[in-house]
Amino acid sequence: MAITLHDSLTREPRELRPAQPDGVFRFYNCGPTVYAAAHIGNFRTFVINDLLRRLLELEFGPDKVRHVRNLTDVDDKTIRRSREEGRPLGEVTKQWTDKFHADCKELNCLPPHEEPRAADPRFIREQVNMIEVLMEKGNAYRAPDGSVYFKVSSYPDYGVLSRVKERELQVGATLKSAAADADEKEDVSDFALWKAHKPEDGDVHWPGPRGAAPGRPGWHIECSAMSKALLGPTIDLHTGGVDLLFPHHENEIAQSQCCNGTTFARHWYHSEHLLVDGKKMSKSLGNLYTLDDLKAKGFSPAALRYALLAGHPRKQLNFTLDSLRAAESALKKLTAFAATVAKAADWQFDDLFDPKNIYRPPANTLLAAAISPLKDDMNTPQALGSLFQMADLAKMGGADAKLIAVDLAQFLFIFGFDLREIIKAKGTAEIPADITALAEKRWAAKQSKDFAAADALRKDLTAAGWTMLDRKDGYALEPAKKA
Ligand code: AMP
Ligand code: ZN
Repeated sequence: MAITLHDSLTREPRELRPAQPDGVFRFYNCGPTVYAAAHIGNFRTFVINDLLRRLLELEFGPDKVRHVRNLTDVDDKTIRRSREEGRPLGEVTKQWTDKFHADCKELNCLPPHEEPRAADPRFIREQVNMIEVLMEKGNAYRAPDGSVYFKVSSYPDYGVLSRVKERELQVGATLKSAAADADEKEDVSDFALWKAHKPEDGDVHWPGPRGAAPGRPGWHIECSAMSKALLGPTIDLHTGGVDLLFPHHENEIAQSQCCNGTTFARHWYHSEHLLVDGKKMSKSLGNLYTLDDLKAKGFSPAALRYALLAGHPRKQLNFTLDSLRAAESALKKLTAFAATVAKAADWQFDDLFDPKNIYRPPANTLLAAAISPLKDDMNTPQALGSLFQMADLAKMGGADAKLIAVDLAQFLFIFGFDLREIIKAKGTAEIPADITALAEKRWAAKQSKDFAAADALRKDLTAAGWTMLDRKDGYALEPAKKA
């Protein structure tokens, strides 16, 4: 079964396939603006994209996916932060880039293969080159202050993605005379490719495209230039949160297609936003959470990852602290089930996370029914629901436990649930009732010095995947460890 994903351009589900003969799937995901800690809304988008990357790796092979995600390290927000703090721009953006990487690691997101920065001299050059081509082709013009704007009327297909053309551009035209003069652009719908230096930009400036003033790139051009430099003029998939559909992605299409004369992205995907307690997250409402805020409340990064993936990516997700509590408990149940499966398959718990057990053909046991919804527009709630319905070996139709373990390993990989971390963090997994009952029986046998019965019960526990640790005044249970 191929992966199908909703395409925001055609508004239909479409199969994902690499277009180039090398069979490499080229995937670009708009990254964060690095001026503060990313919030859990940002992470919803990045975790969904991480699940997509993992699905693609299993589908095409780990060496057949190129995943690029940029860092916006020069724009109004980053410059304002650096000015307010009296620190160089590069120092501020490095601090928040490092924090973003640390949070991504805790959330078990795979690093992209390339992570270009807009202010990297190599990519400033790429952006300037692209702007020069657009000026030469008549798609861009220099404004009186030395900035460069993209001329929207030069690209008749403008608006294909967001279908804003009729609606917004008409409104734009009525505002035209008022706004155009103030903004130095010829038409209100035109957008900046290059921004001439202003005093508030301080020492942030580079030599401009030919004929333009020194300054800095406009935001939209960075993704067009960096995806072209790293993935080529046509990419297989471009993604981001819904807020990026217009104008950011519309503008990327216009710039790239006018410059390169070919299709920019063959497939567009936008995931929906996260709300907190039914409201948009904002500092003023006091409902803006970062990963650190939630860790301070005692929640694990894995629970956040679970909660962010529990809703359908194309529906808004209402985040609550209760959803995190539910996620913690679901992960414990999953850990207990995984321990049982590993034991029945004669695997160590760690084997469930070993690439050699992940990157192999699916075993197609009943458990595969929990993976297939993911290939159908990333239906994560259905996948989780199916898994929990079957999280019991007795319901697995007598399939070979080793095959079940392969399917479970793949499921855990795609969701990025590293249950080893959960055991490490909590010291134990949720213990099923029948295991507790066995342990109680064995403890009672030991207390009454019936050592034969106690030994036999220990064997039963071991066979079920649990180690019983005897202490002076009680016992502890943990999933069987690596020998
Ligand atoms: P930014 O750092 O603002 O450039 O945003 C990084 C990513 O987070 C983009 O893909 C946005 O679409 C996404 N994003 C921003 N706010 C939210 C939210 N509340 N829920 C989900 N994604 C968001
Ligand atoms: Zn972008």
